[in-house]
Amino acid sequence: MNKRFNFRRARGIVALALVAFVVVGLLFHIGSGTPSAFGIDQIAAVCPLGALEALFGAKEFMLHPIILLAAMVVLVVVFGKAFCAWGCPVPWLQRFFRPKNKASGGKTSVGGQKSELGGASPACSSCGGACKLAPLGGERDGVQLDARHVVLAGTLASAAVFGFPVFCLVCPVGLTFATLIGLWHLFQFNEPSWALVVFPIILVLELTVLRKWCSKICPISALTSLIANANRTLRPRVDQSKCLRGEGIDCHSCVDACPEKLDPHSGHIPECSKCAACIEACPAKAIKIKLLK
Ligand code: SF4
Ligand code: SF4
Repeated sequence: MNKRFNFRRARGIVALALVAFVVVGLLFHIGSGTPSAFGIDQIAAVCPLGALEALFGAKEFMLHPIILLAAMVVLVVVFGKAFCAWGCPVPWLQRFFRPKNKASGGKTSVGGQKSELGGASPACSSCGGACKLAPLGGERDGVQLDARHVVLAGTLASAAVFGFPVFCLVCPVGLTFATLIGLWHLFQFNEPSWALVVFPIILVLELTVLRKWCSKICPISALTSLIANANRTLRPRVDQSKCLRGEGIDCHSCVDACPEKLDPHSGHIPECSKCAACIEACPAKAIKIKLLK
């Protein structure tokens, strides 16, 4: 019995638990809110980007958003960018709008051939290891400033100019849960609203037109990526003695599977969202999540 932990199912359960959290809050009038803006009794919190926008919008020292930001820094140092894979609804929603050939997923590349996720590795071509392996290397290893950080700067600048968190109006996380709440009000209280038309339209536009939202646009990802540079826990690690590349097989299934375009062989991948797609894709079962570096 050597059953592997099903990370994809676990992430699905966490996503459903977040939806259940919102629905239970509505059902029992707890006022617990959503992952974007939640609260229980005297504790009220908004997402860290919202807290930062509030500070820029108010242009004054406010203790509450600063405490929220400090808590977020601690969480990101401990868990890295795990929110992107385990808490954000965007990767799940994107699956509904992905072109069919990409949506099928599960195919990874080993030795220039395609193999099923987690399947046995195909036999190596008989080059005896003399072949030249295609270089691995993720596109986004290490700390990189990119378009997301420009959007982050624009998000904060717009909050300062207009005095309120402008980005929150189009944030796909907020729009997802606002749509859910709108649907609840429609079915529970028969209260239709324009938000139920406008929010889904903006959301669908973001998921279809801005397909590279996570890697090119998301200012939440940009903010957490800066802090995740200090993360040293729960990182994927490759057992080099098991990796097929050590046998001369040109495998890059792990890099192909990574939604963040990272190479788990690298010692410095602050963009890692701990999604475990590389672990599930590795035909040699050579990758494990390590608790500490
Ligand atoms: S390196 Fe592995 S765990 Fe990290 S984001 Fe890429 S696929 Fe997910
Ligand atoms: S770690 Fe696994 S998926 Fe990545 S190159 Fe090695 S054998 Fe292939």
